[in-house]
Amino acid sequence: MKTYLILHHTAKRTSNDTSHQFDSVNTSHKNRWNGATLSKMGFYGGYHYLIERDGTVGQFRGEEEVGAHTVQQSMNYKAIGVSFAGNMSEQLLTNEQVLSAVDLINDIKSRGGAENIAGHRDYKPTQCPGKTIPQDEWQYLLDRYKDIKEDENKHNLEDWEVEPWEEMIDIGVFTDNTIPNEIPDNATLGVYMSRLKKAIIKELTK
Ligand SMILES: [Zn+2]
Repeated sequence: MKTYLILHHTAKRTSNDTSHQFDSVNTSHKNRWNGATLSKMGFYGGYHYLIERDGTVGQFRGEEEVGAHTVQQSMNYKAIGVSFAGNMSEQLLTNEQVLSAVDLINDIKSRGGAENIAGHRDYKPTQCPGKTIPQDEWQYLLDRYKDIKEDENKHNLEDWEVEPWEEMIDIGVFTDNTIPNEIPDNATLGVYMSRLKKAIIKELTK
């Protein structure tokens, strides 16, 4: 298993924000290297994975295969290359790309890879994977992943649930990290009831 993982972007904006770039990357890499990058999977893309704007994950080559994405320091032999569709010096990663990337990388980590995650720019003078992705790429992905999940939680509330939910947060029964659709066990229920009791006493003794 390759212990390095290097992030890239295709640097190609599309007019349709979510149209897939898999085929165009495949063709351009085929032409760039005169067909030398043919993978066992039958593709020419030099990255192992491509994450489209809509979060679809495409695979050009097996993880054990040599890549064609970062020639410096023999990284093609040591690193799994993961590329984001789009030009991330001009646009942001979509939420779908962030979710897919974190899930993919965590899966690779669970199999013993991706101990070291970096951007192409750490090996070569380039903007890749793009200026809107900060230098600590993995931390940025994790932070955005957490924010997206928290927003999803809020959107899981029905209209009539919003007011009581916010009231429970105001008086400290729930926190911003409480998940609306999670069923609490008795211990957690006890915590909520204890906080509620304190909130009521505080209200009565005002
Ligand atoms: Zn790159």
